[in-house]
Amino acid sequence: MSRTKIEICSVGHQKFPFSTRILRKWKSELFEVTEFRDVQLLPNSDGDDYTYSDESIANVFPVTSTEDSIQFGICSVPLADSFYLRPLSEHSCILSLSELGLLLQAQNRRIEDFILKNLYLAVGVHALKNSIGLEQALQVVHDESRGCIFDMNPNRADAVFSMERLSLCADCKAKLQRASLPHGFLEQFEREIRRIRPSLYQRIEAFVKKQPLVSILVAVVVGLSLELLGNFVYDWLRGR
Ligand SMILES: [Zn+2]
Repeated sequence: MSRTKIEICSVGHQKFPFSTRILRKWKSELFEVTEFRDVQLLPNSDGDDYTYSDESIANVFPVTSTEDSIQFGICSVPLADSFYLRPLSEHSCILSLSELGLLLQAQNRRIEDFILKNLYLAVGVHALKNSIGLEQALQVVHDESRGCIFDMNPNRADAVFSMERLSLCADCKAKLQRASLPHGFLEQFEREIRRIRPSLYQRIEAFVKKQPLVSILVAVVVGLSLELLGNFVYDWLRGR
């Protein structure tokens, strides 16, 4: 199975910096990040409400990708039609952290995980359609948020929900099963997207936020148990 080559480009000033090291070190049998580059500045916006049109982004992020590669831009400015991920051509797209960056920070989710989630979305669409153009992408994604990698998330808050336990919904899984993909692609795709999840610390923190009373009770029980255990060990040592 050949890996899709991905070039990641930081477009403009990043309000929500991300680690290129984490993205470069991510182990995947489906894609490889071959290059990182920067486009330092963007011109003034050319759309309503300070949004940037595809043409405006493409002017500073020109397409150089070929059939077996994807150019993946990341910016912090709002895009046209309130999209946070927009195809710019058959093989290039741009991800905006303009709104999602704040939401992800509020939920203690890593920006890199969100980037990875969208890299897999692009890789999945590319595998199915041999293109990530707008028309092809819209044939794959769905409006309903199902916790699926192909959720379109018209509601921004759903984008964070979709990352809770990344998977493929039954509909998308059937779509991938029907497609003529390389042997083992679907299984590997599912295995890899499941690895994009909050760290243990983030999961504990989320549990404490959701269940503060249970968390206090657990802390008290654990504290008392440790004290009792300490007393027991102390008495046992003295008695020897
Ligand atoms: Zn789905």
